[in-house]
Amino acid sequence: GEEKIQKDIILSDHEDAVNALLKELLEQGVINSLDEIKTVGHRIVHGGNLYSSSVIMNDRVIHEIENISDLAPLHNPANLIGVRAFQKAIPTSIQVGCFDTAFHQTLKEEDYLYPVPYEWYIKYHIRKYGFHGLSHKFITEKMTDILGKIPNLIICHIGNGASISAVKQGKCIDTSMGFTPNAGIMMGTRSGDIDSSIIPYIMNKCDMTVDEVMNDLNKKSGFLGISGVGSDFRDIYAGVVSGNERCKLAFDKYVKTVVNYIAQYYVELGGCDILCFTAGLGENASEARLAIMEKLACLGVKVDLEKNQIRGEEVKLTTDDSSIICYSIPTNEE
Ligand code: AMP
Repeated sequence: GEEKIQKDIILSDHEDAVNALLKELLEQGVINSLDEIKTVGHRIVHGGNLYSSSVIMNDRVIHEIENISDLAPLHNPANLIGVRAFQKAIPTSIQVGCFDTAFHQTLKEEDYLYPVPYEWYIKYHIRKYGFHGLSHKFITEKMTDILGKIPNLIICHIGNGASISAVKQGKCIDTSMGFTPNAGIMMGTRSGDIDSSIIPYIMNKCDMTVDEVMNDLNKKSGFLGISGVGSDFRDIYAGVVSGNERCKLAFDKYVKTVVNYIAQYYVELGGCDILCFTAGLGENASEARLAIMEKLACLGVKVDLEKNQIRGEEVKLTTDDSSIICYSIPTNEE
């Protein structure tokens, strides 16, 4: 029903979490027996270039995902612990893998290749993969339902992690995340795109290891890095309102990087019908949406100021005479 149940429990690993979840489902009467659960969907972060849609996870698939685990060392092994835990707890259930990379498998070679030695791609699979695919796919389908036709679409999935995608006739043609989820626009704590030469330079200057620098780029950069205040947009915006210069700098830099990607994708798409905001900021941060859309006035975007105040709901953000129709749509990655 509507009631939320929240508990603090100590869990030693993901298998523990799966078992605790199943125990609760039984104790709360959501299910009477475990075999009522026929299928379990698993969000798997990285499907490499092996999977362009969801797949039933048999032994071969699990083995293939294990083999590409070094592409997502923090996520894929944990995802597989979940798969195995459900297999063990409910042997009759079917496990389905849904990949965050799958929606972006339609990118062309010229879009996913980096201009590095070609052998890196052939031998080590260095290429753009893209992430948040489950969200970008959901938004594409949702916008198609709303409009009754397949739009040319730019999707800004802007939350703590953030990625922007260009979708032409339902197929992703470009996306801002890359080989890893620390590419593209700046995020809550991630830097997004930077000049790669900064890494060895800082290693030398600060006597840091590559892991330490990567940790800073993933966990101490973005909003947090520039503002020094926090990674949450609400804290950044409170700083902007109270006159904190570094919060203002973080806000302005953020808006600029988002707008730059939109401009790039507008051209790549040959013009777009729809711009859709989603995820934490996209669904709620009216202030960020307004600043982004105002910068798109040169493309003919006209904001409906009253509608843009609405947070957390499906809403059209632009006036009827806007050249690009902007929406905010709550995403659904489940
Ligand atoms: P997500 O990763 O999609 O959960 O997004 C998290 C981000 O959304 C946080 O950093 C917040 O800055 C932002 N956010 C969530 N709720 C609001 C809100 N009501 N107003 C502004 N920003 C919000």
